[in-house]
Amino acid sequence: MSNLDRQATLSVCGGRGFVVAEPVRELLSPRRVPLGESTEVRRLLPNLGRRMVGAWAFVDHYGPDDIADEPGMQVPPHPHMGLQTVSWLHEGEVLHRDSTGALATIRPRELGLMTSGRAISHSEESPRPHARYLHGAQLWVALPAEHRGIEPHFQHHTELPEVTAPGLSATVVLGTLDGTASPGTTYTPLVGADVTLTRGAEARLPLDPDFEYAVLSMSGEAHVDGVPVLPGSMLYLGCGRSELPLRADSDAGLLLLGGEPFEEEIVMFWNWIGRSHEEIAQAREDWVNGTRFGEVKGYDGPPLPAPELPATPLKARGRAR
Ligand code: MN
Repeated sequence: MSNLDRQATLSVCGGRGFVVAEPVRELLSPRRVPLGESTEVRRLLPNLGRRMVGAWAFVDHYGPDDIADEPGMQVPPHPHMGLQTVSWLHEGEVLHRDSTGALATIRPRELGLMTSGRAISHSEESPRPHARYLHGAQLWVALPAEHRGIEPHFQHHTELPEVTAPGLSATVVLGTLDGTASPGTTYTPLVGADVTLTRGAEARLPLDPDFEYAVLSMSGEAHVDGVPVLPGSMLYLGCGRSELPLRADSDAGLLLLGGEPFEEEIVMFWNWIGRSHEEIAQAREDWVNGTRFGEVKGYDGPPLPAPELPATPLKARGRAR
């Protein structure tokens, strides 16, 4: 999905200044962002108080929405650079097209992983016909300096490994959980795992103390390290944990995100991650001029226009505001 916010703002992220070295329990509220005419998403990252979790730099949660009589998701072609996008669904389908020629229908609990590298453009839409309900998350992973200029590519993995315990089943979406690795390509040490808990479950999820973590609730009534986390909210957990206590009062679905703290300071604007104002301004110019980001074939409609750059220059810096 795209950041369709027409009042796009600069976000400066990354660097050790943001990371909490010890275990904490910091509940993050979502910001409601309109997507197009009829839908709305809940944005958890970047958040006013927290910008990244490991290399995870962007988290939107949407649905479940009844789209039986609606077009559903309709995101026209738009560009990305310096990041990977992860499409993750609990219900519904998303038809993905990109400028590498990839065309894929992503279904629930399948990994759609797009690595923009230096430049890519893509569209995402609900296919016709589509399922009644749409429920999912759109996630971005920042690429480190040594890999952010690579050639763009797209991966679609329909089979993902699982970690199980009594009452708990965790699908490893990206990275590694308890020694079990997703087939998706990663460029920094991280994890994204979809955790299903059955009602009454009490479990302890093994973690890496060197990672910082957060848990997004997608459904149900779950307690994360004793804190009730409602669907659409995210609990930031800091670093220094070797396990995470989970409890479920109903069947529940959680998304665990974690990774080694991202050391580089980055600049996020619209759908781009860069390192400087000049780099973002160049990307915008290239999108406006129709160069560099390629062409999405088969989407019925014009591409998204880029928002205006802010009047003050974008600057990477390392402190939380
Ligand atoms: Mn996108």
